[in-house]
Amino acid sequence: MHVPFNRPYVTGVELDYVREAIANHHLSGDGPFTKRCHEWIRQRLGCGTALLTHSCTAALEMAAILADVGPGDEVIMPSYTFVSTANAFVLRGAVPVFVDIRNDTLNLDENLIEAAITSRTKAIAPVHYAGVGCDMDRIMEIANHRKLVVIEDAAQGLLSSYQGRPLGTFGQLSAISFHETKNVIAGEGGALVVNDEAFAHRAEVIREKGTNRTQFRRGEVDKYTWVDIGSSYLPSEIVAAFLWAQLEQADALTDWRREIWTRYHEAFADLEKKDRVRRPVVPSETLHNGHLYYLLMPNAAQRTQALQALAERDINAVFHYVPLHSSPAGRKYGRAAGDLVMTDDLASRLLRLPLYPGMTTEEQHRVIEAVHSL
Ligand SMILES: *Cc1c(COP(=O)(O)O)cnc(C)c1O
Repeated sequence: MHVPFNRPYVTGVELDYVREAIANHHLSGDGPFTKRCHEWIRQRLGCGTALLTHSCTAALEMAAILADVGPGDEVIMPSYTFVSTANAFVLRGAVPVFVDIRNDTLNLDENLIEAAITSRTKAIAPVHYAGVGCDMDRIMEIANHRKLVVIEDAAQGLLSSYQGRPLGTFGQLSAISFHETKNVIAGEGGALVVNDEAFAHRAEVIREKGTNRTQFRRGEVDKYTWVDIGSSYLPSEIVAAFLWAQLEQADALTDWRREIWTRYHEAFADLEKKDRVRRPVVPSETLHNGHLYYLLMPNAAQRTQALQALAERDINAVFHYVPLHSSPAGRKYGRAAGDLVMTDDLASRLLRLPLYPGMTTEEQHRVIEAVHSL
């Protein structure tokens, strides 16, 4: 029996909604399905404006433009993240400044941020790894004090919370992903969350190729024209229709993932006691969404062995990320703030296990057994 790393789950009504979108004769962006998705995000996150994008990467790029990040500006972020966190700012000519992560959550270490701030620092981009919240109280305190914009990379954070408040609602701007590996999917898709209404109008313009078309559609202006820089960041109604089917089931999908996550967590308690693995740490002030399950192996060699042993049993476990500060583009475009000791160490030992809604108990049992036999 092959156990894949991920299997995109469909709720079953996606095609019905896509058919409905076709019947609506509105296939470009911002039709009825997009509106429903916007409203859902607005209600669940309690944010002023939510805008669907074709990816989280696109939402991060929009955020970089909105935050007015330009050549030579610096943006503080973890090195332990997906490339898009950094790329969005590098595209504006800015320099990602990589700060080390916490040993427990693998999130940006809030205690190292201040030392990395210079006169060129413009923004902080915390990443909520595995859907576990960063210390947003401390990060917002530093940012407000230093007048920095906070852009949350909440790609993995949908329906997670910190101190009872949803992730993605702390920074002025945040980005969510609906990529097929995330909790709620649209194939490729994302959203920009605008928590500071001062950015809302410009966000709509940037998303519509730098035109005021969105305002025109609402009847706020009598013609639409080119008013700012921008690009095409909105997904079609076909994508929004698919996404709507998923958002309707977002709570169930999240619960499902959390159940599988918890089953892994309980099954590996004994291995942790024997120091054979370290399990994920979820601080009490955070509620996670079961996005991913990982184990930290004692060293890099054992991680490599584990990947191989699981592959031999036809179980597709993986690792990530190659820390950005040591990647070719990261070395060229960014810089590390100090020695990223935790990043280098933890990234070399982390093993991700298969986790997806629809994973059978039999599939999971095989993974649990295989890890115990390592
Ligand atoms: C998935 C992911 C992204 C990119 O999301 P896309 O929707 O694929 O562009 C960015 N940052 C993090 C932390 C991610 O996990």
